[in-house]
Amino acid sequence: MKISTITLRLVTAPLTRPFENRWQRYETWTKLIVEVEGEGAVGRAECTAMETPFYNYETIVTAWYVIEEYLGPLLLAAGEGDPLTCLHLWREINGHEEAKGALETALWDLRARLNDRPLSVELGGALRPVPVGATAGIESSIDELLSNVEANVRAGYRRVRLKIRPGWDVEPVREVHAAFPALPVIADANAAYDESHLDALTALDGFGLLAVEQPFPRHLLDATAELQHRLSTAVCLDEQLHSVREAQEAARLGAYRMANIKTGRVGGLGESVRIHDFCAAEGIPTFVGGKWDQGIGRWTNLALATLPNMTLPSDVGPSDTYYDDDGAAPRLAFERPGWVSPLPGAGTGVEPTGTLAVERELKLTKGER
Ligand code: MG
Repeated sequence: MKISTITLRLVTAPLTRPFENRWQRYETWTKLIVEVEGEGAVGRAECTAMETPFYNYETIVTAWYVIEEYLGPLLLAAGEGDPLTCLHLWREINGHEEAKGALETALWDLRARLNDRPLSVELGGALRPVPVGATAGIESSIDELLSNVEANVRAGYRRVRLKIRPGWDVEPVREVHAAFPALPVIADANAAYDESHLDALTALDGFGLLAVEQPFPRHLLDATAELQHRLSTAVCLDEQLHSVREAQEAARLGAYRMANIKTGRVGGLGESVRIHDFCAAEGIPTFVGGKWDQGIGRWTNLALATLPNMTLPSDVGPSDTYYDDDGAAPRLAFERPGWVSPLPGAGTGVEPTGTLAVERELKLTKGER
């Protein structure tokens, strides 16, 4: 594919309801949207980096910089843009998976559009319904949390992920389990704990959790394996896994029995598929994790979530839950409670509406730099 233009945009959308994780509270969310234009079509992706360097060291601003200064010029100068070879093109650039992943994902969308195939099919998935999970943030009280979880259950969500941190763990997990005993629940720590919390985390084993997600930081993989050996509940890895090699290493230690795959964290859709395939061979179920994605990111994640080993509910809930306007049309909605399906059109099948506030825009063209 000949790539003629790369466009970067920072786009802000207000949330329908404020969200708080262990680091901060959000009322709006700004995303970096990446477009690649070539051979008469446009492929798009939403960078999954956040505005802050807490979940990951990368932010939307560092991703912008790395694409503007390095990844974009290399891609434009190469003459050919292909999602299967672009990582080789960028091999001298250390890390920055979110930046690479955004541009690589836009190339996948472009490739699927030029092949006139849905992105789901292009990736090895199918036009099939996908079960959906919701995430409940850290709330100001247990009552607030229970009413949030109840709203998700009533809407039909097939699983709820509770954000936990030291001091907000056993009690919310116990109360949610007592109120909704049949609800599959993941307790997601976002790496908030360390080895001194092994006993406290082991106490989560009695509440029928589907998984305890990313209890420790990446460098505490041995402690993660120790916890998995102590728990009958699955440990789900998220922040830990940046590549299929890391997925293999963690599996060798027996450190997890479930994987949350996020495209940006692993450097794009190609590596996401490789991690998926490895987990499938190991009998480790997977799902696609989201980050309050706007429309373009949401439909991209849904395409990935149609792969065969994505057997658990993915974070691809209806747009209305998160944004009154998520910047893309059509809007993602339940086809029946708890289930969504990808679009049959080429690529993700969605187009930007142009209705969200654009904070910054840049076009890169071949030979300009
Ligand atoms: Mg997580």
